[in-house]
Amino acid sequence: MEECDLLQKCGFFKKYHQTKDLACKGFMKIYCKGPKMNDCKRKKYRIEHGLPPVDDMLPTGQMIKI
Ligand code: SF4
Repeated sequence: MEECDLLQKCGFFKKYHQTKDLACKGFMKIYCKGPKMNDCKRKKYRIEHGLPPVDDMLPTGQMIKI
């Protein structure tokens, strides 16, 4: 299975990859290890700003609210 080339250094993935939260898991399935990996807003942010976004920013660009 193909996965995002930023997986190993992505703060979101590192912080949440063991979560039980279904929404988070869903995002990882669709983005980090799925068909929308190139639509990821975190990836775009990194390219535009030259540094990674905060860990709590979702691949959709929204912030996780705990
Ligand atoms: S959140 Fe985005 S940049 Fe991070 S691993 Fe998933 S697809 Fe890649």
